[in-house]
Amino acid sequence: MKAVVLLGPPGAGKGTVAEVLSEKGYRHVSTGDLLRAQIKEQTPLGLEAKALMEQGKFVPDNVVVGMIRDLISNTDGSANFLLDGFPRTLVQAQKLDELIASENGTIERVILLRCPDKVIVKRLSGRRSCPECGAVYHMLYNPPKNGEVCDNDATALIQRSDDKEETILNRLSVYAEQTAPLIGFYAEKGLVREVNADQSIADVRADVMEQLA
Ligand code: ADP
Ligand code: ADP
Repeated sequence: MKAVVLLGPPGAGKGTVAEVLSEKGYRHVSTGDLLRAQIKEQTPLGLEAKALMEQGKFVPDNVVVGMIRDLISNTDGSANFLLDGFPRTLVQAQKLDELIASENGTIERVILLRCPDKVIVKRLSGRRSCPECGAVYHMLYNPPKNGEVCDNDATALIQRSDDKEETILNRLSVYAEQTAPLIGFYAEKGLVREVNADQSIADVRADVMEQLA
């Protein structure tokens, strides 16, 4: 198996970029989406994760590592994963290395989306998502075609409860403390490719494609 890791602060545009890459044969895996699916189904894991996510805190490493382990071990060796929102801590990154090694796989690249905090706050406060298919919009920068409903399935869009300004600021400091150290971890392995995420969606997508070529 092969994997590309999308790294960057909340709101940098990881999910938005991942959408095009899934058209290129990558299997998009977002731990945030997997956790929200558990919350929707009211599983014990979902109930544990909900309170933490609403406060902008991380769910425990063993929970997300377990989800990724299940996924990787249930997929055939030719899979091309695009990891969005995982790993987010050094422990997760080390566990990912172990999982990938046990499947004789490789991390091909780590794409780092750089984006200033000021821009992130604007992006997250205008973000809306489809609770049915997971499509992501922005009311100003990437609006749905008809009012506040999904272009794919006409479901009413929702604002995530963790996209309130106060929680956003908390998430940014958690990113700086716990996730930013992964840049050095992967830079030492020569895997990091930086992309300026403070550009139009089309330009960010084009730059990411170039880094993957
Ligand atoms: P965003 O798209 O804004 O970066 P995500 O949808 O990736 O947010 O994640 C939403 C929340 O889910 C995170 O704030 C965190 O609480 C939890 N979460 C997602 N992935 C992880 C992870 N790898 N480790 C710990 N918590 C996670
Ligand atoms: P992440 O997965 O990194 O949290 P998203 O892909 O969900 O980020 O994007 C966050 C918000 O910003 C969404 O509302 C999305 O429509 C919007 N967005 C994403 N990329 C851009 C961009 N390049 N320019 C303007 N808005 C963007």
